[in-house]
Amino acid sequence: MPVTLVLIHPSVSEESTAVTHPFLDLPPLSAAHFAAIEDRVARLLDTRQDVVIMQGEALLPLEGAIRATAGPETVALNVITGPYGQTFGNWLRDCGATVIDLAVPFHTAVTAEQIREAFAAHPEIDFVSLVHAEAATGNTNPVAEIGEAVRAHGALFYLDAVASVGAEPVLPDAWGVDLCVIGAQKAMGGPAGVSAVSVSARAWARMAANPRAPRHSYLSLPDWKERWIDGGRKALLHAPAQLEMLALEACVARIEADGLEAVMARHRTAALATRAGAVALGGGLEPYVYAESDAAPVATTLRVPSGVVASELVAEALAGDGTLPLAAGGGALAGEMIRVNHYGANATADAVRSSLAALGTGLAKKGLPVDPEGARRTVESFWR
Ligand SMILES: *Cc1c(COP(=O)(O)O)cnc(C)c1O
Repeated sequence: MPVTLVLIHPSVSEESTAVTHPFLDLPPLSAAHFAAIEDRVARLLDTRQDVVIMQGEALLPLEGAIRATAGPETVALNVITGPYGQTFGNWLRDCGATVIDLAVPFHTAVTAEQIREAFAAHPEIDFVSLVHAEAATGNTNPVAEIGEAVRAHGALFYLDAVASVGAEPVLPDAWGVDLCVIGAQKAMGGPAGVSAVSVSARAWARMAANPRAPRHSYLSLPDWKERWIDGGRKALLHAPAQLEMLALEACVARIEADGLEAVMARHRTAALATRAGAVALGGGLEPYVYAESDAAPVATTLRVPSGVVASELVAEALAGDGTLPLAAGGGALAGEMIRVNHYGANATADAVRSSLAALGTGLAKKGLPVDPEGARRTVESFWR
């Protein structure tokens, strides 16, 4: 095929500027504006602790908080109720900590009693890592009760609240959480590229005393303490991720306008409707998390009947409508688990109804008895 090279010599007049674009040519985000966004996130968490916004996806503060606090003297109780707990245990071990893993089946939640038993068996535990809600497995843990047990024991309490914030209460001060990490990309309906961590005075002290805490590093929380917070939040450590910060501000403003209670209620309703709707649909579909009280409001996991491969059923549903908030379970769970990610903009009757309808179509094709009309009515009854 002949190639024609066209050389363009645009004639640019002196007054002409580039085409305006909503994402480009924005004025720089000031330190004061950055601090104001931090304060707004702190209000959302009802915390008086320092809130540090970090310039990366939530894995940045999740890893940064562990590396800053843990060392060879640390004895950590690492609660595993889903895939993230596994990751935290690996970081803790990498820091030289002694790690006691407490794994519970993914179809349930950990109890405060199990935490107390672990303390009784290992009184030397001085750090507890826990995931609040697990979007990947659909369970949620009773953090208020667990917090009481952790406080009574005196351990530092690290919580991954990325999947719970916006979907259910997250109250670091009331619960005695020392390091509470959030991201905006799930129930907050915001950006994925910035995240936040609230840090207690105890946690700052632990970091200050830890010679192995990262310093002069992108992972470093002590850097933010020393150069940002202790300096009165006057000078940022580096250029802020401006678009992501504006998106975070917009998403917090939207939650404030709707009311946090209303946003959480939307998620709770979507979760209850998905559970009940799946049972009404039939075809052998069942809630993956047995007890409703252990099921996370952020996302609902379903178990497929034997003979059905979850990832295939999801692929078929998405081939019909790529906008449905459906995913198969990760890794070994891909065969048996479906995730209905009814969070953020998908915490709606329509997203739940359409997701179950598409799964019903797929199950019917396999000859399984389903009641799509019953599922639709059940889902709608939750929004009446
Ligand atoms: C979603 C999520 C994160 C953030 O991880 P991504 O997979 O990058 O979105 C962290 N922790 C939990 C519990 C989550 O559900």
